Amino acid sequence: MSYVRFSGSTGPHPYVSDVYILDSSACPGERPLECCDCQLARAASTDPFPCFDLAGMIAHLAEHQAAGHVVPDFVEKRLRADPPAPRWQFIR
Ligand SMILES: [Zn+2]
Repeated sequence: MSYVRFSGSTGPHPYVSDVYILDSSACPGERPLECCDCQLARAASTDPFPCFDLAGMIAHLAEHQAAGHVVPDFVEKRLRADPPAPRWQFIR
C-alpha cells in the first residue's frame, strides 16, 4: 500500500509530492516502510530505495522537507493512523 505517490502540479494525483512512500515486502521486517526512488539517497549515492520504521520514516520525511522537497501534510497523519502491517502479514 502506498501512503503517497509522486505527483506534480498537473497530476496524476490531486496533490504535489516529491516522495513516494509505501510499505514494501522488499524491506526487512523491522523497517517495513520504503522511500521509493528517494532523491536524498540518489544524491548521496546510496540505495535509492531505503527502508525505515515508522519513527525513522517520519524523521526521513523531515529531511526531505529540509532539502526543499514537497511532502504533503497528510502523509505523516496517514502513516500514524495506518502504520505498516507486521511483516508476517505479507505474502511473498
Ligand atoms: Zn527519501
